[in-house]
Amino acid sequence: MAAEQLGFEGMPKRLYPCTPSRLNTWLDCPRRYRMTYLDRPKPEKGLPWAHNSVGASVHNALAGWWRLPLDERTTEAAGRLLDRAWLSDGFRDDAQAAEWRHRAREMVLRYTAGLDPADEPVGVERTVSMKTHVITVQGRIDRLDRRGDELVVVDYKTGRRPLTADDARTSLALALYAASARRMMRTPCRLVELHHLPTGEVAVWEHTDDSLDRHLRRAEQIAEECGEADEWFRATTRPADVAIPPERRHERFDERFPPQPGPLCAWCDFARHCPEGQAAAPTRDPWSALASD
Ligand code: SF4
Repeated sequence: MAAEQLGFEGMPKRLYPCTPSRLNTWLDCPRRYRMTYLDRPKPEKGLPWAHNSVGASVHNALAGWWRLPLDERTTEAAGRLLDRAWLSDGFRDDAQAAEWRHRAREMVLRYTAGLDPADEPVGVERTVSMKTHVITVQGRIDRLDRRGDELVVVDYKTGRRPLTADDARTSLALALYAASARRMMRTPCRLVELHHLPTGEVAVWEHTDDSLDRHLRRAEQIAEECGEADEWFRATTRPADVAIPPERRHERFDERFPPQPGPLCAWCDFARHCPEGQAAAPTRDPWSALASD
């Protein structure tokens, strides 16, 4: 643990502020973590991804739908919200964007047709946070439901890969959301659900107090690692470093932020600055993660 975080004897420990996304980025690739969270100026990202446009448009439409007055929560309204929220970045051309706008519209129409508009969620895009003795973690839940006496974390997914209960079980983000919601609202929260909009399937996992605690301990462990690396970065960086181009910073910082080349490099926003990543995976077109059928 970094000295700054430990503090002086007798003083309260400084908690490491983080999000699930920050912790997962560290696990995936420390070099990408540095370029995402620490480098200043921040290296320029690649082009926007079309699949992110689809995901954000659908999320925004569904959030908007729950914010409508109850008597306006119709499937038609969901379609209108999707049209209004539509983001067209990253598509090959206008025709592809139009096709995907239609598909996304179908997704929200189908999904909202299966919802009870009167089943008011506890929260939509609800920010939750909690502290442990090591971290203060914050995140935003797509939807927080109440079923009986318990809260349920709902996460929307729009990717092409179908999801399993194991995806819900192993998700650090979902577990941290559930633990945070449980503590903030002093209400049990064990169920976490991945709602896969392209298929309508729901992957569910029911946590126990023990499994949520295991995820929390894991988050603390990761936070301790990246907290130490952050501290090393701050101690090592000199004012003149801002002039060094991203490609030439690696040799300075790889000791603590090594690259983790692999298939995921194809989707890395910073691959253009990373020779190891470019060698590990072919460059993808911004629309290549869209399903072809
Ligand atoms: S391209 Fe791969 S190795 Fe390079 S920063 Fe991105 S994830 Fe890491």
